[in-house]
Amino acid sequence: MSSSTVSKKPKSDSDKKPRGHVVIDVERCKGCGFCAEFCPTGVLSMSKGFNLKGYHPPVVINSSKCSGCDLCGMYCPDFAIYGVKDTPKKA
Ligand code: SF4
Ligand code: SF4
Repeated sequence: MSSSTVSKKPKSDSDKKPRGHVVIDVERCKGCGFCAEFCPTGVLSMSKGFNLKGYHPPVVINSSKCSGCDLCGMYCPDFAIYGVKDTPKKA
């Protein structure tokens, strides 16, 4: 009698990765670009558009890569951006 056991590894690796999101206060931004330059996962780029002060603020181009590490917030001299870690959902 043969028995076969198929073990399926749950595809939940992506669920274990740290997740987060970034909050941008566009009108505080002075367009220095530090946030986009220092984000370790390339979440941000600089907008071609202007805010009311005439600066190019950052835009999110890769939201799924944001870990909420807040490096962008630590580099921003104008408190115009910060990262937030998302709370994992309970099953
Ligand atoms: S670091 Fe702050 S001020 Fe500089 S571009 Fe980013 S949000 Fe704007
Ligand atoms: S919180 Fe971290 S990963 Fe997210 S945009 Fe800011 S620097 Fe990048």
